Amino acid sequence: MKSKRKRLGDLLVDSGLITEEQLLTALKEKGNKKLGETLLDLGFISEQRLIEVLEFQLGIPHVSLYRYPIDKKILAIVPKEVAKRNMLIPLKKEGDRLYIAMTDPMDFFAIDDLRLSTGFKIETAIASKGDIIKAINKYYDYDHSMEDLLEEEKPVEEIQEAVEEDSPVVKLVNQILLNGVQLKASDIHIDPQENKVLVRYRVDGVLRTERTFPKNMQSMIIARIKIMANLNITEYRIPQDGRIKVNIEFHPVDLRISTLPTVYGEKIVMRILDLGSTYNDLNKMNLSTVNFDRFVQMIEQPTGIVLITGPTGSGKSSTLYAALNRLNSDDVNIITVEDPVEYQLEGINQVQVNSAVGMTFAKGLRAILRQDPNIIMVGEIRDTETAEIAVRASLTGHLVISTIHTNDSISTVTRLIDMGIEPFLVAASLSGVVSQRLIRRVCPDCKTAHEPTQREITIFQRKGIEIQQVLRGKGCSACNMTGYKGRVAIHEVLVIDEEVRRMIMNNGTMGELRDLAIEKGTIFLLDDGLQKVKEGLTTTEEVLKVAISD
Ligand SMILES: [Zn+2]
Repeated sequence: MKSKRKRLGDLLVDSGLITEEQLLTALKEKGNKKLGETLLDLGFISEQRLIEVLEFQLGIPHVSLYRYPIDKKILAIVPKEVAKRNMLIPLKKEGDRLYIAMTDPMDFFAIDDLRLSTGFKIETAIASKGDIIKAINKYYDYDHSMEDLLEEEKPVEEIQEAVEEDSPVVKLVNQILLNGVQLKASDIHIDPQENKVLVRYRVDGVLRTERTFPKNMQSMIIARIKIMANLNITEYRIPQDGRIKVNIEFHPVDLRISTLPTVYGEKIVMRILDLGSTYNDLNKMNLSTVNFDRFVQMIEQPTGIVLITGPTGSGKSSTLYAALNRLNSDDVNIITVEDPVEYQLEGINQVQVNSAVGMTFAKGLRAILRQDPNIIMVGEIRDTETAEIAVRASLTGHLVISTIHTNDSISTVTRLIDMGIEPFLVAASLSGVVSQRLIRRVCPDCKTAHEPTQREITIFQRKGIEIQQVLRGKGCSACNMTGYKGRVAIHEVLVIDEEVRRMIMNNGTMGELRDLAIEKGTIFLLDDGLQKVKEGLTTTEEVLKVAISD
């Protein structure tokens, strides 16, 4: 490596990738993190651009570790702790040279340390953080635990022993959880098949197999998870539910566990509820300015019902929590009744539904009303009884926020009426409805501009939106070659004002309500989605998957 000991910050400023001010901000924010990482976190630079600059300016080669064959013998040269601490992995050795891939090849301290501790001359290559984390997990953790486990084939009676602290299976399961959190997965599946067990992660809504284990490890992995979740490990014929609370890298993580007996054994799904996530900031919910203002106005009224609607996995609860967080202050009493309590919010009284002991949404809601609340959050309005109490609560001076399972904002009105709520009560209590969907975000690392297709031009024209270019990801290692990374929410915010209220009371049809909503300037899901395509956040295909073009 050409030892140009130039500092990363100066290099990035010189190449025009960041401004002097951005560098100063990053240096102030960085604490004991690395500069490159801080710049990425602040969104000043994308990882791909950072890699490109280092590659072209310093001539440091970039390696994609995805299929890079790493000789297991050289792992012994660099201890796992060193690899983890400095975000690096050894690639190969040739003579007195050790080749390593690292996220920050300008981390001269780490390189010097490694040179002194190994006695090798160090040659560096650059790799993305995601790649290095995956490689460390794959080579250092999994394989070792696996070899240990395979060596000591234990009979079933000894499962108990195999789940003692520090045993290989304990480490292996911890690794599976850690990997899930690092990949920002929403769910981890342990999937028994006829001859093997799959570990699959759902990331950005897509389920992918990450690891495969031999069948003889199945019972140990499952037993370990069940023990962590306080489930009965001798019972494997009926479904069970439980919870695991762990600290992963100093970060509290809550996991909801469910088991399901299948012909090949118990399948386990673990939903990751990340307690420290950013899901509590309404400004980060991708609401357009108009929709943001309309929504905030609804939730800042002292009474009325505000409903959030959309299918499972559309981010309804994130929006609910963000709304509560905005309203949360010392002078209001906020009480929730949820199934389950997904995120714990400070200063808010959260009640868990428990149908086993008869604690239903309706019962919880009735009890809450005797606790002098200002704001009530009901996890979901599923039945007439809950809907009725919610209406009564709002009419007696409370703000009620909840979710309901409908397709769009307008059909929510008719859904409430179908549930048996009188139209005049719906009209009197409902303040507004937010319908939302989550769609995939174009990968920031590999996005490129394209001319819109003829079909796109037609779709946009019909909505009166002019468009010159669209962004698409061409696929890179950061997005697993999909062209998408992360998700973005699209919304439809229906405001129930006097005129809409009158139409509901007069039994207006869905068509009439829709026409009135259009007249009122309602932004429908499709409009909001196309606007986000125009802004380069997502693609037309993603929008059309969830919002039908008329
Ligand atoms: Zn990409």
